[in-house]
Amino acid sequence: MEESTATIQSNLLQVHFQNGMDGQYVLDPVADVFVKVNPAFCELVGYTAEQLVENKTPLATSSLIHPEDRVLVSTQRGQASRPGERGSLRFRVVLPDGEVRTLEICYSVVNYLGRILHVGSARDVSEQVKLENKLRSESEYNRELSLEAQRAAKENQKKNIEIAEANTRIIALAEVLRAVPVLTKRLLEIEQISDVFKEAALTMVNEAGFSTCAVLLKNREGDLEVRYAHPFRATTKIQTNLNTLYGNVMSGVQALAIDETGSHIAPIKAGNEIRGLLHVGLPKNLARFYKNHSMVAQSIKDLVVTIADFLGLVISNRENLERITLASRTDNLTGLFNRRVFEENLTLEFRRALRYQRDLSLLMLDIDHFKKVNDSYGHQQGDAVLAAVGALMKASFRDLDSVCRYGGEELCAILPETMGEAARSKAEYLRRKIEELEVPLVADEGKSMKVTVSIGVAYVTKTTISEDQLLREADTALYECKAGGRNRVVMARPT
Ligand code: GH3
Ligand code: MG
Ligand code: MG
Repeated sequence: MEESTATIQSNLLQVHFQNGMDGQYVLDPVADVFVKVNPAFCELVGYTAEQLVENKTPLATSSLIHPEDRVLVSTQRGQASRPGERGSLRFRVVLPDGEVRTLEICYSVVNYLGRILHVGSARDVSEQVKLENKLRSESEYNRELSLEAQRAAKENQKKNIEIAEANTRIIALAEVLRAVPVLTKRLLEIEQISDVFKEAALTMVNEAGFSTCAVLLKNREGDLEVRYAHPFRATTKIQTNLNTLYGNVMSGVQALAIDETGSHIAPIKAGNEIRGLLHVGLPKNLARFYKNHSMVAQSIKDLVVTIADFLGLVISNRENLERITLASRTDNLTGLFNRRVFEENLTLEFRRALRYQRDLSLLMLDIDHFKKVNDSYGHQQGDAVLAAVGALMKASFRDLDSVCRYGGEELCAILPETMGEAARSKAEYLRRKIEELEVPLVADEGKSMKVTVSIGVAYVTKTTISEDQLLREADTALYECKAGGRNRVVMARPT
């Protein structure tokens, strides 16, 4: 009898089931028992077919499963209840000898004669899982390792940046130190002293890399005043006693003060006098860096002190120059401008009067019988008279006017914006004032003497062509005073 194709197929399937390399099984999920298992499956789970299927009381399928995975498996079973559904799952089984294996099962749900069954195959993936776990933990380790490395790299980078920054600043500092002579030369060429302070402060911040720079100088009241600060600070006045370090430097107790933030405060000295302070702030990272590098610390100190000293030098230079300039323009005895200034100013004012058609008058004053003063009271008394008349003259005119000692006992006043008549009344006022003036006797305390003056007045008219002409006219008028009996004012008659 010929075997039917169906029988052959059924038999082949049976062979395949029995000899397959994969563990194969059929289970009843509701009864929780195996219906059929192949030898490979028995080997996988460590139980015999007898124990699993053929016994009167076969093992519950769930009893093979690792307690921790039971919920997972029963959940999955609960979800796979309709025929045709497929699924796969990994879970651990515990063998009778205690060995734990990880199985990977693939199954499908079938309806066999009204019974819902799971037909599945199982493989041992323990080694694979172990390997996967190992790989995972290794990669996690690697990842952690790389996180740690990244953190370290970042930290390193930050440090490197800081060091690079500090280096840059130090290089800048070195450059500035090297450039100090150039800088000081540049500062010397600046005309306005306020611009010198500004340039110094800007250089310290922009080129030397300091965070702030302020120049503070004592004002007339003795308070420290910020003359220039970069970046700009609202503080314009600082009481010396408000800041101990400032006080210490101002009083000379400390030649250089450094506060807790690294700010350097150096005295600005003009001559032997401390006039103010140079306050230089350090950027934070440089302050940190500088603490560990005595050479850098010394360079910074040197630089701050050098610049402060230099500013002091600039200040005293300016003051000396002002003194010299003033001295070269002033007459010692009377405190009036000298002849050189008289000539300069007369030329200047004459040109201005001519160009803009402005009024200009000139007074020429000569002390009467001055020779007699010298002869009767001595030369010293003559000097005292000159000084007294000079002081009175100086006090009697506007800032606009130039009062000068022309020579000997002759004094002049240039009066811009003043018409002849106004000049004459001014001269008359002056003559009377001098007439009333009591000049104390140098040799005889408590006693005094009097003098009179003659004043010639000239003024610019349409016919005045030069300052020499104006001067001549005043001189002529003065001569007329003398000829007319002295102690008087004569107005020039324009030629
Ligand atoms: P007159 O009224 O004509 O001006 O007579 P006078 O004596 O003032 O005139 P004169 O020009 O002859 O004399 C001027 C004197 O002033 C001569 C000189 O010894 C004196 N003199 C000039 N400069 C000074 C000075 O700086 N100090 C003193 N003490 N005398 C001076
Ligand atoms: Mg005279
Ligand atoms: Mg004279």
